[in-house]
Amino acid sequence: MAINLDQIRIDLIGDDERGFDFLSPETLKPLTELALPSRGILSAYLDISPEEVATGQVRLKLKNMAREWLENITDKQERRAFEEEVGRVENYLRYEIREPGRTLVIFSSKPADLWRVFHVPVRIRTRLVWDERPYLRPLLTVMDEYERYGVVLVSREESRFFLFYMGEIAEYSFSLYDYVPNRHKRGGWSQARFQRHVDDHALHHFKSTAEIAARLAERDNWQRVVLMGTYENVAQVKEYLPKAIRERVAGEIPAGIHDSVNVIRDKVLALEQEIERQIEAQRVEAVITAAEKGQNGVLGYADVLLAVQEGRVDVLIVPEGLEHPGWECERCGGLIADILAKPPDACPYCGGPLKVVEDVVDLAMQKVLSTGGTVEVLRGPIRAQFEKEGIIGALLRY
Ligand SMILES: [Zn+2]
Repeated sequence: MAINLDQIRIDLIGDDERGFDFLSPETLKPLTELALPSRGILSAYLDISPEEVATGQVRLKLKNMAREWLENITDKQERRAFEEEVGRVENYLRYEIREPGRTLVIFSSKPADLWRVFHVPVRIRTRLVWDERPYLRPLLTVMDEYERYGVVLVSREESRFFLFYMGEIAEYSFSLYDYVPNRHKRGGWSQARFQRHVDDHALHHFKSTAEIAARLAERDNWQRVVLMGTYENVAQVKEYLPKAIRERVAGEIPAGIHDSVNVIRDKVLALEQEIERQIEAQRVEAVITAAEKGQNGVLGYADVLLAVQEGRVDVLIVPEGLEHPGWECERCGGLIADILAKPPDACPYCGGPLKVVEDVVDLAMQKVLSTGGTVEVLRGPIRAQFEKEGIIGALLRY
């Protein structure tokens, strides 16, 4: 079977079967380009873990957050517009909410003709934002934080392709099926010749599989690749992968070609967590060592936020769930954590006026990302140890 890769569409099956949304820069692009002349877009990030939904906590939290906003919206028309958007979200929570996901993200705006709902498989802090634009930074932050794993499952006759991201998996809707001659209908062929034919065919199949994998890896930005199947088949595919993709192979895992999506997901998840634990341990060790030696690493709010301000952070290291109140400079954007006995009178970086912010950690993460750095959120066992060392840390570029 000749395969013309340009003629087949290879798509992720929309939301996967469990109903999660796979975020990509392309999905969010229309939202990043959207802006109204004045405030009119509601962005809601809501914790929808089962207990929150069952006890009605989600709707209660939405109402409380909406009340806080209303205290600061004085214009009558704007108040009405705001309440209308909140009402849409409330109705959705009451009547249409689906189970999947840890965080429900909704963007709603009648004037912008906007209603987008995302079921995100990871936890994002609950909040409500009313602005001229959709509030995307928390989504962009988690997108950066998780790696995209491409998964190639192969037998001698078939291949299946998956994308694993944020602990969830979706299968590409194209599966390659190469015809292999039936052993019982070999007609006049000699056994040797038949065997050679089957082997040629299998080689061709492994080669096509590698080609498709390489194509998808590039198109969908697979940061790591997992090969699944028997060791023999996986080895064959691996041999045909272009070097750049082969170097991204993070694991080879035994699996059956017809294993369920859930089985595949659980196997990749175990591998991802193992890799993540290793990376976390390495980075924590690196930052502690560097800070001790006074080299390219700092620990603690004061030094880390200074490095953030100077744009020197390569990797910001933060335990999952860390929040800390403080101030943001209205002139230079500098961040100060509330660790002082008395609040500063002015920005220590530029002398500008300060405003109170409820969480400097979140703002620091976004600043690091916007200056080309990355964020390492510690989730594994190393988290507790790191909290003792300095709570927050950063590996520096220079
Ligand atoms: Zn300042």
